[in-house]
Amino acid sequence: MPKKNDWSPATLAAQAMGKIDEPSRAVVPPIHLTTTFIRDPDNQYRTGNIYGRPDNETVREAESVIAMLEGATNALVLGSGMSAAVAVFLALKPGDHVVAPKVMYWALRNWLMNDAAEWGLRTDFVDMADLAAVEAAVKPGETKLVWLESPANPLWTVTDIAAVARTAHAAGARLAIDSTGATPILSRPLDLGADIVMHSATKYLNGHSDVLAGALATRQDDAFWARIKRVRAIQGLILGPFEAFLLIRGMRTLELRVKAASAGALELATRFSNHPHVLEVLYPGLSTHPQHALAARQMKGGFGGMLSIRLRGGESHAVATAAAVSLWKRATSLGGVESLIEHRASIEGPGTPCPADLLRLSTGIENVEDLYADLDRAMRESAGDGK
Ligand code: PLP
Repeated sequence: MPKKNDWSPATLAAQAMGKIDEPSRAVVPPIHLTTTFIRDPDNQYRTGNIYGRPDNETVREAESVIAMLEGATNALVLGSGMSAAVAVFLALKPGDHVVAPKVMYWALRNWLMNDAAEWGLRTDFVDMADLAAVEAAVKPGETKLVWLESPANPLWTVTDIAAVARTAHAAGARLAIDSTGATPILSRPLDLGADIVMHSATKYLNGHSDVLAGALATRQDDAFWARIKRVRAIQGLILGPFEAFLLIRGMRTLELRVKAASAGALELATRFSNHPHVLEVLYPGLSTHPQHALAARQMKGGFGGMLSIRLRGGESHAVATAAAVSLWKRATSLGGVESLIEHRASIEGPGTPCPADLLRLSTGIENVEDLYADLDRAMRESAGDGK
């Protein structure tokens, strides 16, 4: 009989690691809601369960799936992607130096520039596609963390994870990566040398736009990981058990959803590349993308469900198109089964690297012909074609 270790990640995720509830023999384990636990007769807590703020059984079940998917030693789930990212930075010390990308999730960039700077972190923002710039920015002995995001929201630039890991490690720094857009189905950054992987589990991991959650996975269960765990426990950043249950349910279909979204995104990217109203399509799966070869090397089985399009008609046409869609939902976020469209510069505000003519598309799992037809019609109608 093949061993559990030989089963593929999709198999293990579909069965949430095969865990059943022994007392009832239930295939779907119950949600552990308790916040407190009975002590043993001799005053000990032998199960390891003491209180709900440091840990929870349903949360641990979600973590075991994420650790398996990422090939990690350990994982943690937290109340949001932002709380996961912030927990990593708060595990550093005031005065530490950080290198982060110019193109990254905007709210985290703003937090690093403002709040983290006030708290004492020094962050330099670099173009992660320029390895010489990364090398120049990393200060041996001073830089404690290099943060990157690949593909990076919302321009979908790709970073050479293995090369940045080598640079970070040579300087004595750790490499952490926001891999939300890639998902563990398409990319496993720990295998490429990263130390910590972060996800907004609100997106693909949960996949149904009904849970706010974050995840971290680590290569090594070391002192830095212990500090991150402490930040989560002290600040109460743990995910609630009901949300953890929904997250486990979402991850059972992760591979199916990610592959469907990736196939749809590639088809849309290809077709919109030849659309009269489209100036440029930003998608690493296109052979015209400047980092396509790198993306093909470090992403397996697809290039993700996220793409952006820039419209020839500029900002006003982009905003009007987002207002004219009917099947696509005009909303923020990404990674759900429903397709979303967003004029990104409006939300990111001043300082965004995002051009004003850009629409960000999160491809869901709907029929791709329906998606193409709706956006094609919205672009043409809002441009006044045929009038
Ligand atoms: N990282 C990326 C790439 C994101 O897109 C987001 C949210 O949009 C986050 C992090 C933050 O995650 P959350 O909204 O779950 O806090």
